[in-house]
Amino acid sequence: MSVIGERLQPTIFERSRPGRGDGKIPHPPKDALERIPAGQRRSRPAALPELNEPEVVRHYVNLGQLNYAVDTGFYPLGSCTMKWNPKLNEWAARLPGFANLHPLAPDEVAQGTLQLLWELQEALAEIGGMRAVTLQPAAGAQGELTGILMVRAYHRSRGDLERTEVLVPDSSHGTNPATASMAGFRTVTVPSAADGGVDLDAFRAALGPRTAAVMITNPSTLGLFEARIGELLADVHAVGALAYMDGANLNAIMGHFKPGEAGFDVMHFNVHKTFSTPHGGGGPGAGPVGVGEKLLPFLPSPRVLREPDGRYRLERPGERPTSIGRMRSFVGNSGVLVRAYAYIRAHGGSGLREVSEDAVLAANYLKHRLAGTYDIPYDRPCKHEFVAAAQTIRKETGIRTLDIAKRLIDHGFHPPTIYFPLIVEEAMLIEPTETESLETLDAFADALIAIAAEAHATPELVHDAPHATPVRRLDEAAAARQPNLRWRPMAGLETPCPD
Ligand SMILES: *Cc1c(COP(=O)(O)O)cnc(C)c1O
Repeated sequence: MSVIGERLQPTIFERSRPGRGDGKIPHPPKDALERIPAGQRRSRPAALPELNEPEVVRHYVNLGQLNYAVDTGFYPLGSCTMKWNPKLNEWAARLPGFANLHPLAPDEVAQGTLQLLWELQEALAEIGGMRAVTLQPAAGAQGELTGILMVRAYHRSRGDLERTEVLVPDSSHGTNPATASMAGFRTVTVPSAADGGVDLDAFRAALGPRTAAVMITNPSTLGLFEARIGELLADVHAVGALAYMDGANLNAIMGHFKPGEAGFDVMHFNVHKTFSTPHGGGGPGAGPVGVGEKLLPFLPSPRVLREPDGRYRLERPGERPTSIGRMRSFVGNSGVLVRAYAYIRAHGGSGLREVSEDAVLAANYLKHRLAGTYDIPYDRPCKHEFVAAAQTIRKETGIRTLDIAKRLIDHGFHPPTIYFPLIVEEAMLIEPTETESLETLDAFADALIAIAAEAHATPELVHDAPHATPVRRLDEAAAARQPNLRWRPMAGLETPCPD
């Protein structure tokens, strides 16, 4: 039996009964064994589980039902944009012409896929107000690295070698400072102002001849739009630095704000967030990067190009020597890119604008419903997400945000992001997305309000939550630092994957 509670099932290995599963696996040709060098043959049979088909199916379906997913319920995980992923996208991504295309297929037989990728590059450039887009990066984080490597190449190409710093606000996602470090820069953290926006004075003080770039998330990770972005970018450019826009929150501003037009030199798109793709398990995603005029020569290669005669092709190796090179194999995570294309085409320009408006409306509605029960540290209209906090509840009852999040599971909801951004104590970052009904939003608000009442009336109920799950509170630090994920075989058998 696995580590935890009685409601978890035995592993598939423990269900195995000798002789139950074989018979359907075709036997290898007679001489197959002889062709394997003696030293590399197994001495004992592999410990593969032996079960009949219904047992296998039930095992995995039952395990799958232990998961919480967007397909089973509301998932307001701020910053992650866990919106509904239209099933139409799944159909499109599985079309055999896309799904079965060999990654090394010559351009002549890959015209359909190349056209889709080219049109996606164009659509993203239009949405972001950028000059051109690369689809290669595998996720937002790799998009950031791609963008900052291009910034580095730009300064170097001008012989400007003194720029060693990247400025990042203290509300930023952890990937921003990580990116700056990986690209060899020193991260300078700039504090936020009391209203949650960038502290303009602090930013100006930090800007200088050593600044290579600033990385800004707009709207910020507090869900607030940076209204003085024009002023800020003018200052950035005045000192010769470039401006990077973390586009993870693009789903709040489509059709209303184009980062390129506002003066950003480079941005990434988290297409698995903004344009939908299931990403709860950590991927795969895609993080295309858009650039303005200055960074155009440095885009990763190969780009997808359209010839004057309407044919599509991949850039040839060495065709653009200023390129920073390849960031990922082939053309990137093409299945995710097909989903993004399907989403964009299904909505169209006005539809995407409506997506953003609905996401903003849903977040403001929820914020309004929770005000009075939870602290709302930045009480001005938010974009697609907002911060609520349990500071007052903690003071009055000892119940913390973590307890509330765990109790939400008993009430049937996935908790929001908690303790992020780091600058708000007892923070919950709530992002409902545009895809949820009014009834769902109300049910979630009712649950959070009920939990606040429980915190006062029966604090132990909240403190010891969750009560209704197969496992209770896990030691999250141990789970992250000393994960024990390896099943050990029964005596006399060999593990299928030897150490
Ligand atoms: C999600 C996110 C990232 C990182 O993007 P991934 O696609 O997860 O690598 C960066 N910044 C912000 C604000 C984000 O929400």
